[in-house]
Amino acid sequence: MTTTIASTSLDSAKPLNLLDMDREGLEAYFAEIGEKSFRASQVMQWIHQKGVCDVQQMTNLSQSLRDQLEQNTVIQFPQVDVDATSKDGTRKWLLKLEDGNRIETVYIPEDDRGTLCVSSQVGCALDCSFCSTGRQGFNRNLSTAEIISQVWLATRLIDEEKKPGRKVTNVVLMGMGEPLLNFDNVVRAVRIMMDDFAYGLSKRRVTISTAGVVPAMDRLGDMLDVRLAVSLHAANDALRNSLVPLNNKYPLKELMAACRRFIDKQNSRTRITFEYVLLDGVNDSDDDARELIKLVKGIPTLMNLIPFNPFESSGYKTSSNNRVNRFFKILADAGITTVIRRTRGDDIDAACGQLAGKIEDKSRRHRKFEEPRIGMTL
Ligand code: SAH
Repeated sequence: MTTTIASTSLDSAKPLNLLDMDREGLEAYFAEIGEKSFRASQVMQWIHQKGVCDVQQMTNLSQSLRDQLEQNTVIQFPQVDVDATSKDGTRKWLLKLEDGNRIETVYIPEDDRGTLCVSSQVGCALDCSFCSTGRQGFNRNLSTAEIISQVWLATRLIDEEKKPGRKVTNVVLMGMGEPLLNFDNVVRAVRIMMDDFAYGLSKRRVTISTAGVVPAMDRLGDMLDVRLAVSLHAANDALRNSLVPLNNKYPLKELMAACRRFIDKQNSRTRITFEYVLLDGVNDSDDDARELIKLVKGIPTLMNLIPFNPFESSGYKTSSNNRVNRFFKILADAGITTVIRRTRGDDIDAACGQLAGKIEDKSRRHRKFEEPRIGMTL
């Protein structure tokens, strides 16, 4: 293995998985083995656009390069363990990773788009009180390959349905895990999603959702033009501390300042999507709505109200429709662009916050969240 590649997060004992590399990484690899950098775009097109994973079929590469790739690299995906389609068309995959862990990926069709909800970690360390993934604790970060595999697999499996209008047009990192605590691998995967030689998704079509890891939000703003969703769920620190423990570390004042800085760094006019899960009698009163209006004042906002999706022994209840509508109206009347997220795929446990997968090694259940690592390795 070459020194350049060894400096990625890859385990040097394993063969190089070509899915782990964005264009920059592939270019560095080809430079190391004395090939031209345009080989990177060719290989990306084969894998991500044409779905070809046998290097011998990559016919615009020389035979010797194909042989070399066959010998030194792999293109390796997780296995599809469960594939379920909801009566509303939502489709969910439970994927089995090489080490036996499982993650979930959900395809959500809407009138004008198809959104893929992608996982970034096995489990999650943040322990938000209303989230079933959090109940499982944190197991490990996903590799770039495991993140982009979800897009590769879903794109192919949806295409195979041959149903008009069903297509992956948007990706949201809102599945299992906290994407900004798996920074490097997530950024690399997002770069592949946005690369014209791979999925070519525009920055409006890729959203990274965070519970508010402030230093990582700043870093992200410096390096990617992408949509950011921030999971708020409360408009004051006391309440947010109890729902999102990460708030103890990065309280609302710092979080909102980071949102402002993020917006300022984006090339085009953009908004922050704020997510607010409505929990009956906890954060859904008129006063909560008014406090929320004050909190987001001056920040270009899309407010996404999410009716709580219940799961066993969560201890929370879903707000009534009346309450949700009333909360919506208070925000909308104050001029805040607000949407109520419809619950999708609940018959197959694919709804927001229900993604639990199955974690075989729970030994690190109470591991605390870690500081994001600074500095991209590629
Ligand atoms: N860690 C990231 C991304 C994963 S969660 C984040 O916190 O943003 C994606 C979204 O689902 C978050 O807004 C989260 O708060 C929401 N969510 C979690 N559990 C939920 C539940 N039971 N019902 C509805 N939404 C939930």
